[in-house]
Amino acid sequence: MATDRAGFVYDVRLTEHVYREDHPLRPERLRGVHATLERLGAFERDNAVQLAPRDATRAEIERIHAPDYVEAVMQASADPDLDFSRWGLHPFGDTPPFGGMHEASLLTTGASLVAMEEVLAGRMRVAFNGAGGLHHAMRDRASGFCIYNDPAIVCGLLADRGMRVAYVDIDAHHGDGVQAAFYDTDRVLTISLHQDGRTLFPGTGFADERGSGSGAGYSINVPLPPYTDDEAYVRAFDAVVPPLVERYRPDVLVTQQGIDPHFSDPLTQLMISTRAREHCVRWFAATPCPWVAMGGGGYDMDAVRRTWSMEYLIMLGAQVPRELHDPDPPATPASARRLVTDGTDQAIRDALAAAFA
Ligand SMILES: [Zn+2]
Repeated sequence: MATDRAGFVYDVRLTEHVYREDHPLRPERLRGVHATLERLGAFERDNAVQLAPRDATRAEIERIHAPDYVEAVMQASADPDLDFSRWGLHPFGDTPPFGGMHEASLLTTGASLVAMEEVLAGRMRVAFNGAGGLHHAMRDRASGFCIYNDPAIVCGLLADRGMRVAYVDIDAHHGDGVQAAFYDTDRVLTISLHQDGRTLFPGTGFADERGSGSGAGYSINVPLPPYTDDEAYVRAFDAVVPPLVERYRPDVLVTQQGIDPHFSDPLTQLMISTRAREHCVRWFAATPCPWVAMGGGGYDMDAVRRTWSMEYLIMLGAQVPRELHDPDPPATPASARRLVTDGTDQAIRDALAAAFA
């Protein structure tokens, strides 16, 4: 019988780096998730397994990243006061150089690789690395708080084993780095639901970015209007993700579960709650595939704490206590209702029309 074990990759070293004192991405947020799960007794369940991360190897990083970019990150890590702006690292920008950044990023990436290995070996049904999901990093450029693109590295290594990979990204921002890595191949299906790039970083993720060559139709984008609430979001998810993933028949599911689409998130204008997330993550959990799960964005510390705790409980098949849910999620304001409804309908139509047959 297949295992029902769910891995949670954790080490306090994944939570200790600081991008910059005023930076919105605070890896320490994972401590609240871990402490909440501990308090709820999640790790005492028979099928719960805490997994220790490892460092990614240079070869694993270079599955996606250019060797000279890796060299630059190593230099920036040792001497962050030099100028690394040509590599996307700006002291006052989104992704500043900081001391120890290479080592912290190797461990963050290795945590996703441990999740992948445990799932591949059949020891886990699913494994979650909340520290990962750094989906904006490009081949030779840091971007959007992301240094090494762990979801792309995982998808690439899985594809190298001949597996068909379905990557579903439910962060509020377009998963541009993962899309770029697999734009010309049908071995990795990327689906990203995000806030419309006309209104949010990174400014991409439109339906006509559908892949090229043998990858045509295998990059799927669902750009949603600002103020999209649970009702519209769930409608978009259900219309696009289950039918396309089922049509693709993947060997493995990889998910990026940034929780910045939450209504309380300070960086985005999507308005979803823990209810919509529960719906999406329960669908992931119901698929028959091995599943490698990662975190991503999420800048309201309490929303991160409650949502990722809930999501790991779903992975375990455990009950979700009410305290993890938003007590009173808001709905789209009446003045934006029409724009949200029409924009969501359009995004669904365009995504399905762009998809592989
Ligand atoms: Zn994000």
